[in-house]
Amino acid sequence: METLQSFNPATGDVVGEVAVTPVEQVSGLVARARAAQPAWEALGLRGRAELLARTAETFRQRARTHGELITSEMGKPLKEGMAEARSLGAGLAEHLEEMVEALEPEVVEDGRVRSTVYHDPLGVCAAITPWNFPMSMPSWMVLPALAAGNTVVLKPSEETPLCGQAYADVLNEVLPDDVLITLHGADEQGKALVASDVDLIAFTGSREVGKSILREASGTLKRVVLELGGKDPMIVLEDADLAAAAKFAAWNSFRNAGQVCVSTERIFVMEAVADEFERALAEMTTAMSVGNGIEDADVGPMVNARQRDHVLGQLEDAVAQGARVLAGGAGHRANFVTPTALADVRDDMDIARAETFGPVACVTRVASAAEAVERANDTRFGLGAVVFGGDDERTAGVARQLTAGMIGINRSAGGAVGTPWVGARESGFGFHKSKDGHRQFTQTRVITRPL
Ligand code: NAD
Repeated sequence: METLQSFNPATGDVVGEVAVTPVEQVSGLVARARAAQPAWEALGLRGRAELLARTAETFRQRARTHGELITSEMGKPLKEGMAEARSLGAGLAEHLEEMVEALEPEVVEDGRVRSTVYHDPLGVCAAITPWNFPMSMPSWMVLPALAAGNTVVLKPSEETPLCGQAYADVLNEVLPDDVLITLHGADEQGKALVASDVDLIAFTGSREVGKSILREASGTLKRVVLELGGKDPMIVLEDADLAAAAKFAAWNSFRNAGQVCVSTERIFVMEAVADEFERALAEMTTAMSVGNGIEDADVGPMVNARQRDHVLGQLEDAVAQGARVLAGGAGHRANFVTPTALADVRDDMDIARAETFGPVACVTRVASAAEAVERANDTRFGLGAVVFGGDDERTAGVARQLTAGMIGINRSAGGAVGTPWVGARESGFGFHKSKDGHRQFTQTRVITRPL
């Protein structure tokens, strides 16, 4: 039996291992999930939601174990691992209620006919997830898929199989057999799952893999929901609260060691306030502690050596091409990249174009808000964006011109509970959360009779 070992990126120690699912077994697992689907659907929307809501207590009880597992398997500081673990149980009943409301049939009349719009399950849903939020990403896809009456085959990232398994284990304490099946492995297992007889593929991960999934799914027009990478800009206007802007820039560039899809990856600052902003950002960057996440350092390791090499390669290239190091830039060791702030970053540098996914804050000076908007939008990505400014109307005007899917004003990009998590351009295809997001896990069906 082939096994997949999981390593702690801070220490190199083995955290645990799982059995790799042989590729030739994938279609059999999907067939089992398909056989389990009609009975799961027959429980009804409310019945399924009530069953799933029972897991909230278990997630609450295991929050520390899960938080520590997240930190030891992928490296994020324990406070971030704990926050992720707590989010699994917190508000679960309310989230499920939102799904129920989104999926209940609606009646529409036009004076001539009465139609009922149903949101029926599609059948079997594949959920393929990344390592950077190794328990909440499975939850974002598995819960709405199950609530809608689909059965699910989950493939967690090969970097964090134990977190994926621990998540599924909690659900499987209440679910009937084969309603949620987990398989383990890397891209070969992912490809086999995409090629199998599933009805919907929900994927969160890199843009390149997302594109390949869309291509593969086209053969039978499988439904696809993709949440992909980003290159999020932040704009700092001259009347912004600079201390708040620098604090946000440091937090959103360095949390989870920059391995967040909505990390701030490009900062456009108005020339007039650039010196002061850079000074504040440099101070905060230098103050970051780096180390093993379990000891609650501010910044943990990169998930693996490949990710470290990618980040260091971009840094080296940027400095060689004239980027100025404001803080950090040296002392990297093992999988740890020293948090680094760069200034004078040009749009043609690789670090300004390709996703970095590392603890680097890149500052570029601009002469006007119009220039900031033009340069911020000069990307194929379009996940999040952020604008800091003092004048409400002007700041909102700048925000409206940004082409990202989620734009934050004087705060991070994510919206209120009930709003979609959505990427524009090549950052996504479909979206999650919100009524419309939940409905993507269903087949809409309209039945009409005369009035
Ligand atoms: P990845 O694309 O390398 O892998 C994601 C998953 O896909 C893994 O489970 C992997 O095994 C699997 N996979 C790899 N090749 C495959 C293939 N050909 N067919 C099917 N499955 C395949 O991404 P990653 O490195 O795990 O995650 C980081 C990426 O995820 C970043 O780009 C980040 O921005 C993105 N992300 C996006 C969001 C969002 O909400 N938009 C959230 C989290 C992460």
